[in-house]
Amino acid sequence: MKYDVNCIFCKIVNGDIPCAKLYEDDDVMAFLDVNPVTYGHALVISKDHYANFLSTPKDVMNKVMNVAQRIGQVQIEQLGAKGINILTNCKEAAGQEVQHFHVHVIPRYTSSDGFKLELKQLKDVNLPAIAKEIKEKL
Ligand code: 5GP
Ligand code: ZN
Repeated sequence: MKYDVNCIFCKIVNGDIPCAKLYEDDDVMAFLDVNPVTYGHALVISKDHYANFLSTPKDVMNKVMNVAQRIGQVQIEQLGAKGINILTNCKEAAGQEVQHFHVHVIPRYTSSDGFKLELKQLKDVNLPAIAKEIKEKL
C-alpha cells in the first residue's frame, strides 16, 4: 500500500477520517465530497497514494475511471441529474488542493446549479505549430 502520512485521502482510505462512502474494492474508493458543488458530488480515488492523474499507473487509472462512469450513470438514473462533469485537477496551477489522485464526478441539474467551467478563448493561436510541438513528444 502506498501511503502518505500527511495525506487526508490516505487517512480516509485507512478509516482514520470518516466519509460518506459510495464504493470500495481492492484498488478504488468513492465517497461524497465533503463540500459538494452540486447534490451528489462524488470523488473517486485510487487507494494507493499517487500525487495526481499524471503519475497514476494506467491500470489503476482505468479502474478509477470505470467506477467514475458507473457513479455518473447512477447520478443520472437515481438522483435525476441531467448530465455530469468529470474533472481531475493536476497540480496547484490547475487548482488541485488534495495531492492524492482523485476524479470529481459532478452531477448537473441546470446550467446555474453551482458548477461553472469558464472557457475563455485564447487569441492569435497557431494551431499547426502547437500541434507539432506536442506531437513530436508523444
Ligand atoms: P481538488 O481541488 O484537489 O481537486 O479537490 C479536492 C476536493 O476534496 C475538494 O472538493 C474538497 O471539498 C474535497 N475534500 C477535502 N477534504 C475532504 C475530506 O476530508 N473529506 C471529503 N469527503 N472530501 C474532502
Ligand atoms: Zn494519499
